Amino acid sequence: MRVHHLNCGLMRPVGGSLFDGFSKGPTAELTCHCLLVETDRGLVLVDTGFGLRDMARPYSRLSPIFIHLDRIQLDPDLTAVRQIVALGFSPRDVRHIVMTHLDFDHAGGLEDFPDATVHVMEAELEAAWRRDGIIARERYPWEQLDEVQHWMTYRPGGGRWYGFEAVRELAGLPPELLFVSLPGHTTGHAGVAIDTGSGWLLHAADTYFFRHEMDRPGRVCPPGLRAYQRLMATDYELHLYNQARLREVYQERRGALTVFCTHDAVEFDALAQRSSAPAEAWSRRTVPSAVERATA
Ligand SMILES: [Zn+2]
Repeated sequence: MRVHHLNCGLMRPVGGSLFDGFSKGPTAELTCHCLLVETDRGLVLVDTGFGLRDMARPYSRLSPIFIHLDRIQLDPDLTAVRQIVALGFSPRDVRHIVMTHLDFDHAGGLEDFPDATVHVMEAELEAAWRRDGIIARERYPWEQLDEVQHWMTYRPGGGRWYGFEAVRELAGLPPELLFVSLPGHTTGHAGVAIDTGSGWLLHAADTYFFRHEMDRPGRVCPPGLRAYQRLMATDYELHLYNQARLREVYQERRGALTVFCTHDAVEFDALAQRSSAPAEAWSRRTVPSAVERATA
């Protein structure tokens, strides 16, 4: 299976390194790290970032609070659908979309792939449907979800992955790809693990937001991102608990396990260097690249 790392959204919140740990200026740089996986069952997209409609009509799709708080950049060339075409595929080749959760910065591109089956944890779809509370109403804009034709939902169980509850054998998908239940950020939040044949790749989504929350013995996170995680967690204690469990697993098995989150630009740059043209095109936009800045 070939795995492409795509950044399908860019946010530049005010706060600089208080958010991302590397920016020198007043604004930070947060990615929307998605995967495009070439499988024998067609293309599989893991999360979508923002979509073409978000870019064209942000105020009819996205909460003004998040447009301004996150300073969402409106660039249609970052959408998954544009990057997939740039890679030489047709959007119709995307047969499946596996969603870590349904937040606005992950689900915006769903309607750019009307033929795809969308896989998500049942509890997440229910939470997005109910939209209970102020944050839920802002984080789950129904305009991003209401035209999805084919939902496929799952409950945790049926397998384990390094001690976490997992869902193996997603309908129509190869067995190398599974859900890992990691709730806390949202009710039905999950990671997506892929057995690449040369080790596991885990898209941990918003289980953590900053690379040193994984690769240091204890949690290291800039204050801006700490506050943002607290604000956005449906269950903050559970979020931190699962984050700590994942940190433990990662520290024990670094060699066999690659873990990344959605919004860390340094992690994205490092993994995109193994990927293809569109990701490189994005990296060139950030001058110098986040990796250079982080290692400077
Ligand atoms: Zn997110």
